[in-house]
Amino acid sequence: MSLWRDIKGTIQPFWVTLRYLFCRPVTICYPEQKQTPAPRYRGRLILTRDPDGEERCVACYLCSAACPVDCISMQATEREDGRRYAAWFRINFSRCIFCGLCTEACPTLAIQMTADYELATRELLQVVYEKDELLIDGCGKNAQYNFYRLAGIGVAAPRGANPGESPPEDIKSNLP
Ligand code: SF4
Ligand code: SF4
Repeated sequence: MSLWRDIKGTIQPFWVTLRYLFCRPVTICYPEQKQTPAPRYRGRLILTRDPDGEERCVACYLCSAACPVDCISMQATEREDGRRYAAWFRINFSRCIFCGLCTEACPTLAIQMTADYELATRELLQVVYEKDELLIDGCGKNAQYNFYRLAGIGVAAPRGANPGESPPEDIKSNLP
């Protein structure tokens, strides 16, 4: 029984090798050849702008609080008109595990994941990205979303009269 098991154990790996000998190789010659990641691949993080070209990030610290490895840091400040933004914003990609929790937590869709996976470097400090390296000129995903038009400005109209808002329930109408 043990002899048969040994023979089987010797033949099986050869059989696996033989089977794959005539298959098309899956190896690609990176970096000359690039691989296209899956559409929902979670790669390098970016900060985006709203359709007006303004920074979406309002420095609310939610992404930093949600991050399980504590690799996002920033300093909040305000413009003269009261709009908040991050004076500096830093992501340490050497600690990031690309879980996407920061993007889930962000109420303004400012922080987004891209398909860029080319972050490797021999210099550890080069993977600490500052705001100017993170902030892009475009809107990224959900290009039409503008947090400030919906929630960032003072309420001028009565409840239910703002764009996309339903009128409030008449609580008297629910009485028996
Ligand atoms: S992807 Fe995950 S680990 Fe990376 S910064 Fe966001 S929350 Fe932190
Ligand atoms: S990226 Fe989003 S969650 Fe993080 S501080 Fe800016 S607005 Fe808040």
